[in-house]
Amino acid sequence: MPRRMIKDKDKERHNKKKMMGRGPIRKKTCRFCADKNLRLDYKSTQQMGLYITERGKILPRRFTGACAKHQRDITLAVKRARILAVVPFTSTQVI
Ligand SMILES: [Zn+2]
Repeated sequence: MPRRMIKDKDKERHNKKKMMGRGPIRKKTCRFCADKNLRLDYKSTQQMGLYITERGKILPRRFTGACAKHQRDITLAVKRARILAVVPFTSTQVI
């Protein structure tokens, strides 16, 4: 009986840890679907900067919050921007 109790307690603690610092579950919406007038511009450094890491990698959907269709657009835009040297392919300055 004691062993089982400990296991249950551990489970509880584990769940608590998981819940901490997250707050209520909020559904991310694709900003391009939400606002039809919002256009992705591969010539805009500012906009491209939102979708890459400081190392220059393209952010995944779980960070951008975009839907599959618009994530593909983002990927394409970032790749175009890289060729135009709007954003770097990679940054060697960052350790
Ligand atoms: Zn979308």
